[in-house]
Amino acid sequence: MADKTLNDLFYDMLKDIYYAERKIVKALPKMARGAQAEEVKAAFKKHQDETQGHIERLQEVFELVGKRAVGKTCPAIDGILEEGEEMLDEFKGMAALDAALVAAAQAVEHYEIARYGTLKRWAETLGMADAAKLLDQTLQEEGATDEALSALADSGANERALAA
Ligand code: FE
Ligand code: FE
Repeated sequence: MADKTLNDLFYDMLKDIYYAERKIVKALPKMARGAQAEEVKAAFKKHQDETQGHIERLQEVFELVGKRAVGKTCPAIDGILEEGEEMLDEFKGMAALDAALVAAAQAVEHYEIARYGTLKRWAETLGMADAAKLLDQTLQEEGATDEALSALADSGANERALAA
């Protein structure tokens, strides 16, 4: 069997996050519809647009490496999104719903941050500066989204969840 190298690993993880992003872009509208507070809805909608951009950036990276843009089933994101849907169900109409949705969304962002952080470093190691730059742009947006979600939790969602 041919040796597998960092190039193979890089392509494999690109396919993983490509699959994940396409699942996430479909999950975000459900989360936006489910959220109670307008600012939480707005945050999910904003990130839905950004996520569409992440998908397009990944397609550019696939092109840069001369490989086909295909997804590879990622059980990790499937599980994280499944938990989010469970929360949406279990906390529907409850005071803690938005706090639950913000927490679910942060689990998604943290998964993405882990993946893009690794991919960016691997792209640098592989001497693919253009790919690294694209991956870093998305990494920055995922980080900003995570911080925006923390701010939503602090500015009301968690307090509202306390209400008896
Ligand atoms: Fe993303
Ligand atoms: Fe994201």
